[in-house]
This record gives sequence, structure tokens and C-alpha cells, in this order.
Amino acid sequence: VPNTPDNTFASTCCYCGVGCGVVVKKEKNGSVSVAGDAEYPVNKGQLCSKGINLQYTVNDRHDRLLYPQMRYNKSMPRQRVSWEQALQRTAAVFKTFIEKYGPDSVAFYASGQCLTEEYYVINKLIKGFIGSNNIDTNSRLCMSSAVVGYKMSLGEDSVPICYDDIELADCFFVTGANPAWCHPILWRRIEAHKAANPEVKIIVADPRRTDSCALADLHLQLLPGTDVFLNHAIGRVLIENGDIDLDFIQHHAEGFEQYRQVVFERTTAESAAICGVPEADIRLAAQYIGNAKGFLSLWTMGLNQSSIGVNKNLSLINLNLITGQIGKPGAGPFSLTGQPNAMGGREVGGLSNLLPAHRSLDNAAHRREVEQFWGGTTISDKPGLTATEMFDALHDGRLKAIWIICTNPLTSLPDVRRAEEALQKAKFVVVQDISNTPQTLAFADVILPAAAWAEKEGTMTNSERRISYLSKVVDAPGEALPDAEIICRFAQTMGYRGFDYASAEAIYLEHVRLTTGTNLDISGLTYAILKEQRSIQWPYNQNLKQQGPPRLFTDKVFSTPSGRARIHPVSVETRSAAPNDEFPFILTTGRIRDQWHTMSKTGKVNKLRKHISQAFLEVHPEDAARLELTDDDLVVVRSCNGEVRVKAKLSSGIRPGVVFLPMHWGKQLGSDLNRANNVTSGLVDPVSKEPDFKYATVQVEKY
Ligand code: SF4
Repeated sequence: VPNTPDNTFASTCCYCGVGCGVVVKKEKNGSVSVAGDAEYPVNKGQLCSKGINLQYTVNDRHDRLLYPQMRYNKSMPRQRVSWEQALQRTAAVFKTFIEKYGPDSVAFYASGQCLTEEYYVINKLIKGFIGSNNIDTNSRLCMSSAVVGYKMSLGEDSVPICYDDIELADCFFVTGANPAWCHPILWRRIEAHKAANPEVKIIVADPRRTDSCALADLHLQLLPGTDVFLNHAIGRVLIENGDIDLDFIQHHAEGFEQYRQVVFERTTAESAAICGVPEADIRLAAQYIGNAKGFLSLWTMGLNQSSIGVNKNLSLINLNLITGQIGKPGAGPFSLTGQPNAMGGREVGGLSNLLPAHRSLDNAAHRREVEQFWGGTTISDKPGLTATEMFDALHDGRLKAIWIICTNPLTSLPDVRRAEEALQKAKFVVVQDISNTPQTLAFADVILPAAAWAEKEGTMTNSERRISYLSKVVDAPGEALPDAEIICRFAQTMGYRGFDYASAEAIYLEHVRLTTGTNLDISGLTYAILKEQRSIQWPYNQNLKQQGPPRLFTDKVFSTPSGRARIHPVSVETRSAAPNDEFPFILTTGRIRDQWHTMSKTGKVNKLRKHISQAFLEVHPEDAARLELTDDDLVVVRSCNGEVRVKAKLSSGIRPGVVFLPMHWGKQLGSDLNRANNVTSGLVDPVSKEPDFKYATVQVEKY
């Protein structure tokens, strides 16, 4: 049902975690148009290049999967089949593996782009009924280091700030992030705030001089991997200058003395040399932070996607804790969520080590609560396989079947040629997607066509804990179905009770009941409230019937056993290999402005392809001179995992010795040589299991 008489529907952009509100208009010819929602508090009508072109991805259906397909064995071609045939065969294969090899022989690999309702039923199916915790999502590649960082320091996985803190802050430390390209609408707000208040200070730490640096008062062009040294050095100077909050440290935090000892283990000059930045710049950064009334630290993949991602997160959060810059207006650590609903996924427990509503898998009481609520099997206390572990387990035969939903791992996983071998070895592969372009389809035994954005209803949560309702505007093409409906039909085919939901809202209402009494209690929330109020920041419990405070921890009581925030004296040690004679360059990877993930949607839009139309290797001119490279020369990038061949793009904005590849391109026309993840490292953080996408040692030469 349209939200207004002129056939417009409220929704939320399905790309980044900023979560901009959009209005989708259904035109008389059945196509849709999209505009920014002027009433929406996040973006007030603005959209970035990706959001403003969303309608093309809905209207252009030439690449859509239209009906289920299946093959009975790997030597046979896939054929069109009915939904019943596809789900019965999949259920039969899953039952066979579960009976023969146990529930951990099957797995679901899903996406931070799934709606909350979809996450919920996938999680319920495998953890509550199949009896395995083998569900992970591409959020593992994105925010899992931040999740661990928040839990270890604040005691819970909660982003403590709200976006309105942007206009209340007077110092921003943007580190390991390029929000000018990757979170553009939030960046517009920071730009406007700075324009109105030139005294506001912006520090950007990044090995590349990105567009975000154009606004910065200070760019710390550190060497990749040295973030903990940098953050500790800033912490040391803050302590030396007396720019710390002793009252907060004494009454609301713990661990400061050990932290002080660790950050004083080396001089600021020594840290500056290790990071490759001037000592004076570290002191200036500390001065900006120390003088701030409101200090926001913003970060994303540069810190998270690391083999020491958790330590990088903790070392940054420490700066907010020692300065008491949390739980007050304009202050706090603020992880910029990569995907539109990574937060919603965390809320329903949609990772291999989580349970719904921020419950812990390793807590027996939490497991019992969820078991009783679901009324299914016993929930295993054994953590499931994480994203990269699933592909390792397919490789060595422990995992027999994988069901891939709304993600394209053969472009996005690290050391991706190994992942390709893993799918080749898999006994049974189900791919549930909207598009016929993901490389996973070549390995699929069953292909299930899914409904896309604007073809189904549901909810998402953005980076500031804001839950919004997304309307269904048009019917899905062919026989494509909403992801949640596919999972529920499968669960019923397996013979499980509790999946006969009458609607997406019925799933949502079950999810909100399960949050009762937790830190994200949204037990008072319904679709009707979300439609009427347009969005709600959690919590929203049934007694108050109103949303909680816009920012968390205003009482300075944290969710740790002591109620104090934990300052962690984290080690500076890296786990990534240093460059050497064979692999002398450090490779870092990332997004470009107008593409999203593996380009299955944004790659279809001509306007978006024009910005940067092909993969490239960014190289500093000094390195290019030694390699006798000029712009557009074809170069070969090699690591111990594989190679990439792309054109060189010379830029003085990258550090000498460091090269950059965009992450978006996969296998095209049979060649995988544009694919950055051919050469990325297979290392992961030991706790968060997030891959080291921002650091691989490589060699570069002219082709
Ligand atoms: Fe969409 Fe993010 Fe752009 Fe907003 S900033 S329009 S949510 S991609």
C-alpha cells in the first residue's frame, strides 16, 4: 500500500550503513523513480551518487534470475524446476548430510544487505533447528572487529553516538576511513558543520590522501598497519599534556594504569618514526583532541579489516575513554558501518558466535532462553564457522554443503582463488540471489531467484541504531521470492515447526519479543509505529512506548561486570608480514566512490560506471619511476596467493612503497585478472576473524 495518494512509498537506501531515507514513486508504466526523503532525519532529502541512481537497479531487470534451477549431479546442466522441486531436493540433500556427518556439515553464508527479518529466520533455522551455528555473513569481512572492540571496551555491541552528535562535535578523528566516498551523506554533514564553524578540527589518518583529506586540518599519512602505534602515541601526548579526564578515568573506567605504562614504552619520536609521520603532527593531533569539547572518532575498514583489527579498534576507543569523550553530546567512538543492515544482523545474532538480541553463544543461560523461545532443538555451544573458515572447511571436506545468500564471495573473500577451489570441492552449493552475474552461480547445484530491494518489505538498522521500514513497491520478476519466504518454505520442507509466518511483520514481531529486557529492547515496536514515525532509534520498549536516549552511556555506566569502561593496554605487535626483497610493496584495497561491493547493482548503471570505469593500481610516481611505469601502463601485481593485471594510475596521494587496488571487480569474460582479492592475504584477526584486506605484501612490475 503506498504511503501517500500519489503512489509514493517510504524506504531506505540499500547501500551503505548511513541509511538515507528515500521516497520511491511507482510510475504508471510500472517503473519506479527514487528521490531523497526531505523529512528523513539522516539525510534531509540528500542522496549520494549511488542512492540517487537506485531506480535504475530496480527498473533494469535484464540480469535477473527468474526461476529456480537445479542439477541432479555436477556433470549435468542445470534445468528450470519448480520451487517445490528445488526445495525438496535441497531439503533431501541437507537431511542426508546432517544425518550422515552431523549438523555442522552444512552452512549458510549470508549478507549485511539482508533485511532483519531475513537474518532472523536464517539464524533461527540453523541455530535453533538444524543444530549448528554455521551461519556467518559478509559482515565478518566488514564490522566484526568493531563488534569485538565495543564488547571488550563498553561491554556491549552498541554504537554509543547518534548522527546529531556531528553538529555538536568540535574535533573529528577520521581514521581508516574515506567517508567522502564511502559514507558521503554523513560527510556532507561534517562539511557543512565545518563550513559554519571553521574552528572545528578534522584529523584524517590514512596512507592515501583521499577526498576526505581535502577537508582535514591535519592528514596523518601513516604506514599501513601502524595504527596502534599512532593511537598509543596520541594517547601518550594526551597524558603528558594533562588533557585527560581524571574523574572519568577514576570513577567510570578501569585499566588506565596498565595503559599508561604501555603507551610510555616508546617515545613519541619513536612512534612517529614507526608510523612514518612527523612527530609534530602527532602532537598536533593530540592537541586538537585534548582541546575539544566534543571529540568524535570515526573509523571503518582501515581499522576493522586487519589481522590486528580488534587491537586497532581498542586503541582508538581508548582515546575517547581517557579523555572522557563518551556519553555526552558531540562525543564518542563512532564506527561507520559498511553495509546497510550489518547492525540489524548483529541485533538478531546473525553471526556464527552470536545469539539474538546481543545474547552470547557461550552463555548457557542465554542459550536456554533462546531455545525455550524457539521451541526447537538444543542450541550448540560450539561457535560456528566464520566466513573464511567456511571456505577452508569446504576445501578440506569438513563442510559438505553451503547456501550462499545475497553475497558474492568469489569477488569479496580474501585469497579468493582458494575460495574458488573450495566451491569446486563442495558437495552441494545453493546460491540464492537476484542477479545472474555472481561467479558463485557457476558452482551452484541449486539456484534460487530472490526478490530485490523495493520488491519486498522489511526493516533495517543503520549506523546510529535507527530502525526503518522498507516498503514493497513492485512485484519481483518471474518467480523470484523474498529471501525470508524462501528460507521459511525450506524450513517447512525440512519438517520444522515455527516457520509458518503469515507475513514479514509476523517475523519481525517474533524478533522484537525476543529482545525484551535486553540492551536493545524494542519490544514495543511494530511495523505500524515504524511506518507512522518513519524510523526509530533503539531501544523502544513496550512499557515506555518511546525511543530511548539518542546517545548511550550518558549515565557513564557501562555493560561490563564492573560497570566501568575498559581501557585495554593493547599490544602494538603486528601479525602481517613486513615487505621483503621478493614482495617489496604493501598493498591496500578499498572502495571507489560510485561502486558498491562487487558491482552486481551499481555496475549496471552507466552514470556510475563513468566515474571510474575499470580496475587500476594506484602507485606513487617515485615508485613508478623506478619501475619505469607511466599512467595506463599495464602492470602485474603478484603476491604469494596470485596475481592481478590492471592499468597503473600514478598518484602523489599515496605513500611511496604502498599501492592500492579497488575491491569491486571480479571475474569478467572468463578472466579474473582485475580481481583484487587474487592477491590479498588469507590472514585474519585471531578474535574477530576479520581478514587483513588492508595489508598484503606484493611485487609490482610492468607487464
Ligand atoms: Fe545510500 Fe549511503 Fe549514499 Fe546514503 S550515503 S544515499 S545510504 S549509499
